[in-house]
Amino acid sequence: MQSFELQTPGRAAFVDVTAQVQAAARASGVPEGVVVVSVPHTTAGVTINENADPSVRADLLMALGRLVPATLPFTHAEGNADAHVKASLMGGSVQVPLIGGRLKLGTWQGVYFCEFDGPRRRRVDVVVLPA
Ligand code: ZN
Repeated sequence: MQSFELQTPGRAAFVDVTAQVQAAARASGVPEGVVVVSVPHTTAGVTINENADPSVRADLLMALGRLVPATLPFTHAEGNADAHVKASLMGGSVQVPLIGGRLKLGTWQGVYFCEFDGPRRRRVDVVVLPA
C-alpha cells in the first residue's frame, strides 16, 4: 500500500489529488489492475469528477451545503455532524482502472479529496490490485 498526505485549505474543499494517486499507483510497480483510493477519515471523502472547470467543485460544495446544512437538528456532540453526513454522501473510497501504468480516467475526470471538517492534515491510501 502507498499513502500520501495533504493539508486541506479550509473547512470544506475539493482538492485534486489525481497526480498523487497516479504517482502512488506507479510506485506500486503494478502495470495493470484496479487502483483503490481510500480515505481513512470520517469527515472527509473521495470522489471522481470534472477537473477542467473549477466551478464544478464550487457547485458541488454549494449543493452539499444546501443538502446538509449545519443547522439541522443533529445530535452528534462534536458539532461536525454535517461533515460526517457529507463524507458518507461522497463515500470513503473510489476505484480506478490501471492500464499500462496509467489511471484510466476520462478526459475531464480527476480524483478529488473531499474535505468537510478542515483545515486539517489528511491521509490518502492507495492500493493496487493486480489484474
Ligand atoms: Zn464528529
